[in-house]
Amino acid sequence: MGKSKQVGNHKSDKKKNIAKTWKTKRRTKDLDQIHADMLPANAAKLLQQEVDYDVTGCAQHYCLHCARYFVNLKTLKEHFKTKVHKKRLKQLREEPYTQAEAERAAGMGSYVPPRSVEVHTQQVEEHMDSTEAPA
Ligand SMILES: [Zn+2]
Repeated sequence: MGKSKQVGNHKSDKKKNIAKTWKTKRRTKDLDQIHADMLPANAAKLLQQEVDYDVTGCAQHYCLHCARYFVNLKTLKEHFKTKVHKKRLKQLREEPYTQAEAERAAGMGSYVPPRSVEVHTQQVEEHMDSTEAPA
């Protein structure tokens, strides 16, 4: 009698998203790990990696802030202009959350807002125009 009750497959859509969220293989690093990577010594290592044929772009084009590899310089540069990357820089401007901060926020001691850190897109080999386009 009339229409079938099945309208779309929302359930399976949901499942797909959950699967994606829980997938750990392609999971990027946490912000605090990236903060550690941003330390000059670590950053230098990450940006000067040995050629690894198992990694996208042979591990030669790495975005430090997003912890992602790109196939070539062009895609890396294009990535620098994307929303994801700019959003990430913004997130990284706040220092990692600390226990002391949590206590201050909870009213123990005086609250000191997190210091903000300047975060800029890494420099690539050739001189790249790193000026941010007005939003
Ligand atoms: Zn990035």
